Amino acid sequence: MNLLALPAFTDNYIWMLHDGQKALVVDPGDSAPVLQALQSLGLELALILVTHRHPDHVGGLAALRPHLEGPVYGPANSDIIGVDIKVGEGVYIDFLGTRVDVWDTPGHTADHITYVVRFDLSQPGQPPLLFCGDTLFSAGCGRLYDGTAEQLFQALSRFSTLPGNTTVCCTHEYTLDNLRFARAVEPQNTDTVAYELDCLHLRQLGKPTLPTTIATEMAINPFMRCAQPQVIASAQQHGAQDSSGSAVFTALRQWKNNFKA
Ligand SMILES: [Zn+2]
Repeated sequence: MNLLALPAFTDNYIWMLHDGQKALVVDPGDSAPVLQALQSLGLELALILVTHRHPDHVGGLAALRPHLEGPVYGPANSDIIGVDIKVGEGVYIDFLGTRVDVWDTPGHTADHITYVVRFDLSQPGQPPLLFCGDTLFSAGCGRLYDGTAEQLFQALSRFSTLPGNTTVCCTHEYTLDNLRFARAVEPQNTDTVAYELDCLHLRQLGKPTLPTTIATEMAINPFMRCAQPQVIASAQQHGAQDSSGSAVFTALRQWKNNFKA
């Protein structure tokens, strides 16, 4: 299977997974990059996965409909125009014999779901893929709309149980901005400094910093490191009531909202 990040708008990526013949796309906020990729690679669009209702994730659904062979899957807890099959926790979807699990991951929005692609033993060397929408970003996490900090904390905690080599496909290229905040939270984290240099280099070349991995995020993302002493100390200087993961996460999210690099 091949994974592509199709740039859309200024900082979105539409993720495409394909086997050389059939493709799925995740959160097509725009149809144009998808149609261009289908045409240039000679692919058929087999199905579409949607993580949540925001327009930059669903804006291309109507224009893609005539090119789509299968259904559009989307969150059960939502009324998104263009979604055919509503799915939630415990459901799994088949894509060319590969299993795609659905996890309920509210927090950014109340309706947000995440898709976890698990390759079987016939496809050795393929780590799991996480299509996490606006839940987790590299070095950061989504803002809170109608979900809660506690929900988002639980979602990210669950992601941390995935294998370290899990490929994390976030929707937005916010990495460099997020890293400035990460450095403020953990000034002594040398992994963050090294990662920032790598990401600066990629951006100078016009390349995405994504996908990332769970192991990378566990090393550099303060929102995934709420049990680390330095993160707890910084969060407590910014309003965390105690050292619990939930309190630390909530304070970090609030701090980040007002953070100016
Ligand atoms: Zn969103």
